Amino acid sequence: MDIIHLLPDSVANQIAAGEVIQRPASCLKELVENSLDAGATRIQVLVRDAGRTLLQVIDDGSGMSETDARMAFERHATSKIAKAQDLFALRTMGFRGEALASICAVAQVEVMTRRKEDEVGTLLEIHGSEVVRQEPCQCPIGTNFKVKNLFFNVPVRRKFLKTDQTELRNLLTEFYHIVLVYPKVQFTFVHNDEVILELPVGTEKQRIEAVFGKSGGKSYTGQFVDVATDTELVSIRGFIGKPEAATKNAQQYFFVNGRYMRHPYFHKAVMTAYSGMLTGETNPSYFIYFDVAPETIDVNIHPTKTEIKFQDEQMIFQILMAAVRESLGKFNLTPSLDFNREGEIEMPVGDLDAGKPRVVFDPNYNPFTRPSKSSTQGWEKLYTPNSRDTRVSPDSAFQTRNLSDDAQPPQLFETPVSELTPYIYNKYLLLPTTAGLMLVHYRRAHIKVLYEQYLKQMSAGKGVSQQLLFPEVIDMSPDDMVLLESIIDELRFAGFELDQFSKTSYSISGIPALLNAQDAQTALQNILHAVRETATSATDHWRKQIALSLAKDTAIPYTQTLTEEEAKHLLDQLFVLPDYRLTPDGKTICVLLSDDDLARKFA
Ligand code: ADP
Ligand code: MG
Repeated sequence: MDIIHLLPDSVANQIAAGEVIQRPASCLKELVENSLDAGATRIQVLVRDAGRTLLQVIDDGSGMSETDARMAFERHATSKIAKAQDLFALRTMGFRGEALASICAVAQVEVMTRRKEDEVGTLLEIHGSEVVRQEPCQCPIGTNFKVKNLFFNVPVRRKFLKTDQTELRNLLTEFYHIVLVYPKVQFTFVHNDEVILELPVGTEKQRIEAVFGKSGGKSYTGQFVDVATDTELVSIRGFIGKPEAATKNAQQYFFVNGRYMRHPYFHKAVMTAYSGMLTGETNPSYFIYFDVAPETIDVNIHPTKTEIKFQDEQMIFQILMAAVRESLGKFNLTPSLDFNREGEIEMPVGDLDAGKPRVVFDPNYNPFTRPSKSSTQGWEKLYTPNSRDTRVSPDSAFQTRNLSDDAQPPQLFETPVSELTPYIYNKYLLLPTTAGLMLVHYRRAHIKVLYEQYLKQMSAGKGVSQQLLFPEVIDMSPDDMVLLESIIDELRFAGFELDQFSKTSYSISGIPALLNAQDAQTALQNILHAVRETATSATDHWRKQIALSLAKDTAIPYTQTLTEEEAKHLLDQLFVLPDYRLTPDGKTICVLLSDDDLARKFA
């Protein structure tokens, strides 16, 4: 008997809904974005019980015809793109055509909609993907969308919802992301019959004031200076807080082409511009709006669409940093600061992963030819005693020449390392020293440096964490659940924020700052794997395994090469470590070719 069959649409939609609709906030986002795409000028959001029982969005947009209203709930039904190329010219918020299909799979949906040209509107009711009512109705122009009892048919998800307070906060956060870029649209947010926000049409600054102004007492936006720059690549506008107005809890927002985005790398650019101006642990507020050609960004990498990839991130980093600095300088906010000291800007190697683009892609890299072909034509081959044996690994070729304690001369470098310019060759950094030519395996060096950082953070009990906007759910076997439970404290110390989601899954809502959001699950799996492999259950041992596993997942991959600055910085960090010659798992980081070694080669 054949056993494979296609899933009914309702089941497929419910599964896919897990990705798009994770909580009331994601549902709200999709509905409001649809209203904006429909050209609405006034949008009302009515919420009951933090969205658990009701989430209603009323707009005065284009409305839908009877057929379109029915079509809208089909998966991949969209009026916004027709062919793959359209994806590159996106100017609308939605485009996947999956939101409504996903929402109606996990809720009881009622929609009333009417177009300008129609006498009567359409009422449609759908429960768990099933149409239960469709009839003509009297209603104003626009669309009135009610989502009732979200997750009524997915108890696990319903249980996963946090307290009303938390979910309401999530709803508002999502609402802010949208209203801050649409000051020309009037918005209302009502929760349990109480008007929480009433936002009239205005300028961006007025909108920011209307949203955040009440908290401070004095004018919130009065503490801002303008940022503006226009280049061929990008136009940047916005407002940044004066350094003296910085607080622990700052509002920091980036938007691109009318869409909220998270961008840790650009955040770094802003913070770098502020460096030296902030006291203690305070942060500046910023609201920065980017405009770029749509084809130079990729919004299609995650269903929730907050991670955005730019083609020219490195350049934009520089432009943004310069723009922020100029604003801070123009308003004479920091007379003591010398803006010409470009060279002093720290670009920690550890941030490579947050902002990959500074790293040059090696077009010659081919995972199938290395290391047996291309890289053995490099140094390894030259220095392998028997160079015909191409199977000799890069490491074993140098094994005999590892730095041993007594071989280490009292002084390795004549000049401080930071003043030397390493030559970058293949996977290695080449450095002249008084004792000979030093080769440093840079990925391993990076692993070592990061490992020490993680260990330090973990033993201090405070890992640096970044929030995931929407938690990711990771499914696990029962034994992994037990294993994870036993190391959960250590994981939290490392910067993970984890909550049990169901009997067989955890949700990840925060990850170590250096980790890429899309690598979170893999990194966690790798950690579980590493810990599973260790025989002992001593906390100390686990900690080391976790630190090492994370270091490997965040260190620069072989496929990327370093800039000179990064190489220098990496070496600076490496050479202060007590045993910088070996990775935590005993692999060689540095090899020294003494003058004698070289002389012998040329004998
Ligand atoms: P997407 O927004 O990605 O196209 P959705 O599932 O969110 O996909 O919506 C499907 C379609 O339904 C949209 O393309 C649009 O044509 C229509 N639609 C949804 N909401 C509205 C609305 N509030 N007003 C008018 N049309 C709407
Ligand atoms: Mg949509």
